[in-house]
Amino acid sequence: MVYQGSCHCGNIRFDVEGALEGALSCNCSICQRKGSLLWFVPRDHFHLATSGEQVGTYTFNRHVIKHKFCQVCGVAPYAEGVDPKGNAMAAINIRCLEGIDLDAILITHYSGRDV
Ligand SMILES: [Zn+2]
Repeated sequence: MVYQGSCHCGNIRFDVEGALEGALSCNCSICQRKGSLLWFVPRDHFHLATSGEQVGTYTFNRHVIKHKFCQVCGVAPYAEGVDPKGNAMAAINIRCLEGIDLDAILITHYSGRDV
């Protein structure tokens, strides 16, 4: 299945391929503030459909995760990083996906409080 997503203003549009079976609600210092619900996919399953201009990158702590956000509207639809095996991953904020019923998706609480 291919899902489409975007920031609020449309400066960032993307599609992402995979089976959306659940998402993580993480309580780390940034996820808690943003309210992100994260779905992890291999990085090559994520395709930016816009130019990438005015896409900001925020990093903190060990600076291994690139938290992406739109510099126009401020919405943060995805992040990039690597999994423990070193595979490139994308973390999709499923709140930014179109045509999904958020209430029907299994949300798992994840304790990332130490970062
Ligand atoms: Zn935007």
